[in-house]
Amino acid sequence: MPAQVLKEIEEEIIDLLSNLIRINTTNPPGNETAAAKYIAKQLGKEGFRCELFESAPKRGSVVARLKGTGEKPSLLLLSHLDVVAADPKEWSVDPFGGVVKDGFVWGRGAVDMKSMTAMEVMVMKLLKRHDVKLKGDLILAATADEEQGGLLGADYLLRRHPEKVFAPYVLNEGGGLALPTRSRNVFTVQTAEKGLLWFKVKAKGIPGHGSLPNLADNAIMRMNRVVEKLGNYRAQPLLTPTVKHFLAEMAREEPVLQEHFTRLLANPELSDQILDELAKIAPHLAEEIRPRLKMTITPTIIHGGVKENVIPSECAAIFDCRILPGQEIAKTIDLIKALLNEVDSEKLEFETVQAQEPSESPAETPLYEAIAAVLREFEPNCGITPMLMTGGTDSRFFRKRGSICYGFQPMHPEVVSGKVVKREHGIDERISIENLVFGASVLYEAIKKFMT
Ligand SMILES: [Zn+2]
Repeated sequence: MPAQVLKEIEEEIIDLLSNLIRINTTNPPGNETAAAKYIAKQLGKEGFRCELFESAPKRGSVVARLKGTGEKPSLLLLSHLDVVAADPKEWSVDPFGGVVKDGFVWGRGAVDMKSMTAMEVMVMKLLKRHDVKLKGDLILAATADEEQGGLLGADYLLRRHPEKVFAPYVLNEGGGLALPTRSRNVFTVQTAEKGLLWFKVKAKGIPGHGSLPNLADNAIMRMNRVVEKLGNYRAQPLLTPTVKHFLAEMAREEPVLQEHFTRLLANPELSDQILDELAKIAPHLAEEIRPRLKMTITPTIIHGGVKENVIPSECAAIFDCRILPGQEIAKTIDLIKALLNEVDSEKLEFETVQAQEPSESPAETPLYEAIAAVLREFEPNCGITPMLMTGGTDSRFFRKRGSICYGFQPMHPEVVSGKVVKREHGIDERISIENLVFGASVLYEAIKKFMT
């Protein structure tokens, strides 16, 4: 039977998502155990025996397994249970009410990412219900703490209970949303994410009276030069395999993009100039692509001074630096220190706040092929492309251990005044029921194709 949208699961999956939204897992503090227990109960009804792991009190993750014959590698369905904060005053519905109206399920986590948790739970249930014989183990892990770095969730499970969750293949958040071009939807599969280096720079000086500037050494003025230097730094472009593939796929059947991207692929060193030209016709797209071609350094916090008439002896700033797959944290630190040296070799201090290496999985795998084949069954005209995410997900912990991870939560785009709406972390976060059912259906078919 060809792949089709599973209309019959609609009520069940709406219920799963609404109930998950009603369990407030705002992190901090998290309280994911309540949600983990809810999932264990739902899967328990279907005959699964789930295991709960708490990294700290109330910080629970839940794991379930559907055994296969072992002829194929195992696959992990990963999701996180925690959400970011929501201020009810800003919302038009209760963000933790699990409201269903106007064809949407509303609430914090409706997109990021309790919807995918619901889809993954639904897929596990369906496979068991229909007694589908799998050739590899299918594991589900819904984890704590992703929004605060994942150390008490995915990372904890991999460190303490690798035999429960490790799998050569992983499906997680971060991709799946289709990008509409003039003639078709291009579905994204997140195959890579940038790494991050958050660092602090302290500028020192000599204090003095605000009325006598030249008798002091103003730390704010020194920091000003640092912000100029780092904030305007133009890194060398680097074309990763994921981004090459992405540009080529997006350009297909789109003459304007084809013209720009063909030149860009041939002359990455001219990327800024080419993207400046593209920005005149497609500003949003151009600025989405630019940070995918190079390292970025963005000043995000600055502190200095204590009193109106005192020249400060210290000023501190935090920078958010993001690096591409193929670049390394250690070398990036060397580069930043060298830039700081050009500003001032003595009165600047560098300190790493947090660092995460970038990660990338190849798109040439049987899982990617299964995803692509199933998407074409649902939508024969669609495009499919690997995608590099500028932010990070828990996938990095698994990629570091050798897993092939894809961010794939299949969704059709919602376009408002020409722009694809992204609702994660936003006010009135919601997912259409159509997308919820569509996503679960695509995942179900893709997993069957890959594992039977
Ligand atoms: Zn998320």
